[in-house]
Amino acid sequence: MTDKIPVAKPDLGPEEAEAVARVLATGWITQGPEVARLEAELAAFLGAPHAVAVSSCTTALHLALLAAGVGPGHEVIVPSHSFIATANAVRHAGATPVFADVELRTLNLDPADVARRIGPRTKAVLAVHQLGIPADLAPLQALCDEKELVLLEDAACAIGSEVRRGAVWERVGKPHSRAACFSFHPRKLLTTGDGGMIVTADAGFADACRRMRQHGMSLTDLQRHGAERVVFEEYVGPGYNYRLTDLQAAVGRVQLQKLPALVARRRELAARYLRGLAGVEELVLLEPPAWARWNWQSFYVRLGDACRRSLVEVMEDLLAQGISTRRGVMCSHLEPAFAGTSREGLERSELLRDRGLILPLFGSMSEAQVDRVVVALVDAVRAR
Ligand SMILES: *Cc1c(COP(=O)(O)O)cnc(C)c1O
Repeated sequence: MTDKIPVAKPDLGPEEAEAVARVLATGWITQGPEVARLEAELAAFLGAPHAVAVSSCTTALHLALLAAGVGPGHEVIVPSHSFIATANAVRHAGATPVFADVELRTLNLDPADVARRIGPRTKAVLAVHQLGIPADLAPLQALCDEKELVLLEDAACAIGSEVRRGAVWERVGKPHSRAACFSFHPRKLLTTGDGGMIVTADAGFADACRRMRQHGMSLTDLQRHGAERVVFEEYVGPGYNYRLTDLQAAVGRVQLQKLPALVARRRELAARYLRGLAGVEELVLLEPPAWARWNWQSFYVRLGDACRRSLVEVMEDLLAQGISTRRGVMCSHLEPAFAGTSREGLERSELLRDRGLILPLFGSMSEAQVDRVVVALVDAVRAR
C-alpha cells in the first residue's frame, strides 16, 4: 500500500520554531510588540488601514458584530451553509442568526434570498467567503446601503484570495465592507495554532475592537510599558480576553512571508486537479470566475446527478486507498444546536451538504499525489 495522503497539512518549518524561541527569550510573551508587528504587516499585505489581532476568527466575529452595534433583539443574515462558528458568533453577540441560501456556483450567499429575508429586526449581513472562494460583495453592499444594514465578512478561509476591481487585483480583506475577519487555525493557509484578525477601514471600529479584546481597558500594555510617567487604565465598556499571544504572532509573521509562495503552489495543484477531473460527468467542479483568484483553501467537488454512489461510499473507497477526504460544508440549521430552525428555502445548502466533498490539498503535496487522488476518485464515483 502506498503512503497515506492527509486532507490538509499546515506548512510549518524551522523558521517558525526560531521565531518562537526569539520571542520566548525576550520575556514578553502575550499581546505586545510582536502582535503589533503582525497587525501592521498583515494590514500592509491586504491594503487595509487597520488590523486587530485576536484569539480566533470566532472571537473576531464576536467583536466585529458588537462593534457594529449588533445586540439582543437584532437579526443577522448568515449562510447556514458554513462552519457553525459563523452562526455561533451571532448568538455570542446576543442576536439571532437568520439563515439564507447559497448559490451552487459559488457556495456563497444568494443576494436575492438575502433580500427576501430582511425584516424589521435585521441589523447586519454576515457574508462568508466559503473555502476561500470570494463572495461577490457588490450586490450585498447595495442591498445593505438601501436597507441601512451593516455588511461584515467572515473571511476565515480567504487569506490570499483576490478579486478584480476595475483593472486592479485586490486581496480579500482590503475593506469593501465594515470589517472582515480572518482565521489562523491550522486548517487555513496562514496559521498561528489558533488566532484571528479583524480588518477595517474604520478607526473607531478598530479602537472598539482593541479595547474589547483586552477587558475593555482604555490603555494597551504597549502604551503603559512605553509611558514616561505613571498612568492608570480605566475599564470603559464590555471586555473580554481575546488576546493573541506574542508567541503566536511571531509564528504568524513568518507564515505571512511564506504566504504568496504557498498560494502560488496551491493554485498549481488545483489547476492539476481541474485538468485531471475535467469531463468526468459524475462530478461538478467549481472554477474561479474571471473576476476572482482563489487561494484554494480547499479543493471542492460535488457529486453530480450522474453519480449513483453516496458521498459516504465515495469517501470510504478513497479511505481504503489511504486518501483522507472530508464532507463539504455543513449546514448549521440541521445541527441540534439550531434545532427548531425552519428548513424552508435552504434546498441548495442542503444539496451541497449532502453531495460536497473536500479532497486533499496542501503546500507540500506532490503532483504524483494529486494524480493518485484523481484516479481513485474517478474509480470511486463510477463504481458499481
Ligand atoms: C474556520 C472557520 C471559522 C472559525 O475560525 P476559528 O479561528 O477556528 O474560530 C469561522 N468561519 C468559517 C467560514 C471557517 O471556515
